[in-house]
This record gives sequence, C-alpha cells and structure tokens, in this order.
Amino acid sequence: MKYQDGQHFLMSPECRDMPIRQLVQIEEEEAYAIFRQFRWPATSGDPVCPHCGVLDCYALRRRAFKCSGCRREFSVTSGTVFAFHKLSFWKMLAAIWMSVNAVKGKAALHLSRELGVQYKTAWVLSFKIKEALGLRRVDMKLEGQVQMDGKYAGGHIKPENKAEERIDRRLKKYQNMKRLCVLALREKNGSGFERTFTRIVREEQGDAAWATVRDHVSRDATVVTDEHPSYADLAGLNEHRQVNHSEAYQTEDGTNTNHVESFFSRIQRAYVGIHHRFSLKYFDYYVADIAWREDNRRKSNGQLAALVLFAVMLNPTSRNFCGYWQGNSPPDPDFEDFDRPFAPA
Ligand SMILES: [Zn+2]
Repeated sequence: MKYQDGQHFLMSPECRDMPIRQLVQIEEEEAYAIFRQFRWPATSGDPVCPHCGVLDCYALRRRAFKCSGCRREFSVTSGTVFAFHKLSFWKMLAAIWMSVNAVKGKAALHLSRELGVQYKTAWVLSFKIKEALGLRRVDMKLEGQVQMDGKYAGGHIKPENKAEERIDRRLKKYQNMKRLCVLALREKNGSGFERTFTRIVREEQGDAAWATVRDHVSRDATVVTDEHPSYADLAGLNEHRQVNHSEAYQTEDGTNTNHVESFFSRIQRAYVGIHHRFSLKYFDYYVADIAWREDNRRKSNGQLAALVLFAVMLNPTSRNFCGYWQGNSPPDPDFEDFDRPFAPA
C-alpha cells in the first residue's frame, strides 16, 4: 500500500524504511563505513584531507589517515560535529536513528538508557545533533506566504501575595533570562516542503521582527502576522497582511496565522511530553530541533537518519559542546544584537 493523501504519514509504510532489525544487523565496521560515505560522498568514502583537500591520503593506523600533501593526520570525524567522539560509530548511528524515530524529540535520559551510556554523554551527543541541524537557518530565505508570530516560554514566577509587593514583570528592569520569546516564521505553500525559521528574542519587538524579515525572507514573499505593534513596520520591507485576533482569527479573504500556531503547539507538546523543562540557555537548540522535525515530518526514518548524518559530518566542530564536561560551554546568548547576521549561538 502506498502513501495516500489524507492518511497520517506515520501510519504509512513509506515512513518506516529502516526498522530496528536493520540497525542491529549493522556491525561496527559497517557503521564506520557509513560515516565515511557521508563525510566524503564525492569519493564514495575515500579519505580527503580536511586541512588542504588533497585526495592522496594513506592509512596511518586503524581509522587514522595521513595526508601526503600537508602531512597532517586526521580521522573521519576530524573537524566535524562528532570530532573527539567517545562513542563507537554504531552507538552514534543508533543515537541518530533513535532520535529521528521520536517525532516529538528525544529526551537525553531516554537515549542514555537505550544506548547504555551515561546521561551526560547522551546529553552532549543530542545537543551536538541539535546544533548541527540548527545551522541550516543561517542561509535560510523563506518564500511565498510566510506567517510570523511570537510565543513566550518559561519563567512563570508566582506573584507576591500582597498587591503592593507585586512588580510588573513586563517592565524591562524586571526581566531576566527566565522568560524568552520564540520568534517563528513559517512558509505556507501546501507542498509539504515548508521551512520554519526560529530565533529566540527577549520579547516581541520591532527591531527583531524587522531584522529577521530583512535577512531571512525573500522580498517577493507576503508576510502574515497578527496585529501586535512590533510587526507594524514590516510593510516597508514586504507585502504585509495583518489579522486582528481581537476581531477574528481569520480575515474575510481567509488570511490567518494558523500555520505558525500549529508549530507553536508542537513546541508545547515537546515541552509537556518529552523534555519537561527547557533550559532557557539552550532554548534555541531545542526550538531549532523541533522546527527541523516539523519541516521534515513527511520523510521516512531512513531519509531522516541520512539528513542528520550529512548535517553532523559536513558541519564544523561545535565550539559550544566540544569538551562541554571539561568546562567548555556556550556563552550566554545575546538576544539583543539584531544587526549582526543571525547565526545560532
Ligand atoms: Zn592535507
């Protein structure tokens, strides 16, 4: 039976082209060969020097190569997201497979039990994957109809009992890292291949909205937002339609922001059902991961595993998570500098 329109994709045979039986039959050497294929696709897995690009490299010892040009040594993961990995290739492959099968996201604790590795090992691995997937946003330019909205998350603070002791937390001086806003922009074209751009900001405000549309939306696109004043200026950049939610959720011509709001409900489900809390310092990574899953929800688990393998083998070593448990960790994100070209923290 082939996939039919209207049937939920996850119920169709096409979504499950890589069952667990196939995964467990893969030997460590074969897993290693798979990583080589994704690292060096142009040479079908033959080593290419990551330092100078020379093809003439020879095996120095098991799984280490030496370049005959620049004489430097490297391995299949040198310079990639999985550089300095401690896990076997099979376990890294299994982690990717388990992660893509969990459509709402994969908790690190769950991964650590399944792989039989320490929690912190699973946590770092899952964040290296999230970071690599989030990098796709750097060059993203959305087209067609683009719906844009903000969703606040985190940081419920119980108000003081007595009214005179309560403070107005909407005021800037009372804001802290405990409450942030996801600015999300989502293409709507009905094709099933729609991209979602996310960016974490402190609050919905005009400069952030403007810079994000300027840099990540094609000038030919139509931007649809609600009536929030931070979107009022966007008409200076793009064709802009606003839906006044205090009047109706949809204008007479059918304009609405339902598409971006269904992405927000996916964030909410991942929060309630999987992760239980999002550390706000790493909030951007969680949200980028959820957006990637949303955009690729109609791909099979084998296709998704391949996409993740490309992302981790072709993106550079994480500055943020390499040596994380030796004291390296990402700097606190800067959510204020909107003129700097967007790059994930
Ligand atoms: Zn070289």
